[in-house]
Amino acid sequence: MAPTVAVLGGGYGGISVAKALDDIADVVLVEPRETFVHNVAALRAAVDPDWTERIFIPYDGLLSRGRVLRDRAVRVHPTAVDLGSGRRFTADYLVLATGSTSPYPSKLDVEEAAGAAAKLRSTQAALARADRVLLLGAGPIGIEFAGEIKAVWPDKTVTVVDPAADLVSGRFPDAFRAELRAQLDELGVELLLGTSLRELPETGPGQTGGFTVTTRSGVEIDADIWFPCYGGTVDSDYLGPELRPARRPDGRLAVTAELRLPGQETVFAVGDVTAVPEMKQARAAQQHAEVVAANVRTLIEGGGTLATYRAAADSIVLPVGPKGGVGYHPEAGLLGAVPTAELKGGLFLDRYLELLGAVAAR
Ligand SMILES: Cc1cc2nc3c(=O)[nH]c(=O)nc-3n(C[C@H](O)[C@H](O)[C@H](O)COP(=O)(O)OP(=O)(O)OC[C@H]3O[C@@H](n4cnc5c(N)ncnc54)[C@H](O)[C@@H]3O)c2cc1C
Repeated sequence: MAPTVAVLGGGYGGISVAKALDDIADVVLVEPRETFVHNVAALRAAVDPDWTERIFIPYDGLLSRGRVLRDRAVRVHPTAVDLGSGRRFTADYLVLATGSTSPYPSKLDVEEAAGAAAKLRSTQAALARADRVLLLGAGPIGIEFAGEIKAVWPDKTVTVVDPAADLVSGRFPDAFRAELRAQLDELGVELLLGTSLRELPETGPGQTGGFTVTTRSGVEIDADIWFPCYGGTVDSDYLGPELRPARRPDGRLAVTAELRLPGQETVFAVGDVTAVPEMKQARAAQQHAEVVAANVRTLIEGGGTLATYRAAADSIVLPVGPKGGVGYHPEAGLLGAVPTAELKGGLFLDRYLELLGAVAAR
């Protein structure tokens, strides 16, 4: 009998591990969402109706012999998983891939695809009604969202506020931020950096309704809608007592170089849920997945030297609308608008349709 590998979470890391081990193990992928959500394109889906359905990709074509269980892990032990449905199953290997959340619309908070798509459509409508948009956070999410909004509605006023002194934290050269500023300037995006709001707007996030707020530096902002674009969190409360020592105060999990939880032979973690000191990115989650899949395979085949993972250097490909953006990689250097758009204008959708064995949603 083939060993069972439980993969908890069907995001970028989870689907990659599950697929890579489908030929050698009985893979059980546990995921509460109805479909895979191509989160990298979530901000475009919040402004462009053509993208609303595309980001929901069915899991049906992912695995040949394994299965996807629509459920949530609520208590996880080294060889057993308790599910939200009340069921329990045992596994020989565990891969924790439960990722992170960040405020809507950067990550979606509805598990049914139709419900999540309906929410995106109502955001598109709310944005269409608003002349002035306020985004809190000048990290990758706030900047990317500003670019997407301006690409659809060039005449809207878009203001981005952030307490940090500059755009997008990370070890990037000055030229990266200068190019980003130049593109945002060209689009007319207003940046208020080094300050924050005295208090949040009275209206809820994503609701249309005029309001005035004041920054701590004394600038008054009139806007019609606002979105928080900061504050990701990790939920790893599901760890049972044997695994809980790996949990850091921020919820992220300590891992060894082999991406196992410390002291555990058969429990691995990938992606945003890990405390690997690097930028949290889908690309990193998939590189973790390669290492973990190789290691589980080695253990299943009887042992040998395990692969190790080294934290990636800071790099980014940051779209500013479908036709702009800036990229930086320590080896490739700086990418301007044209190469960035060539690389990422399509938001890598084809890559994930292929991985999931799916065809593009109409
Ligand atoms: C707007 C935006 C744009 C981005 N663009 C890029 C980009 O261009 N390139 C890039 O590399 N990165 C990008 N990122 C970062 C990227 O989205 C994350 O790093 C990536 O999603 C991490 O993948 P993951 O598999 O670790 O977790 P996730 O993608 O967060 O997936 C985790 C999955 O686990 C499930 N889950 C949670 N709890 C449980 C549980 N208890 N039991 C079972 N399942 C559970 C969730 O439903 C979810 O489906 C972007 C992020 C945002 C917000």
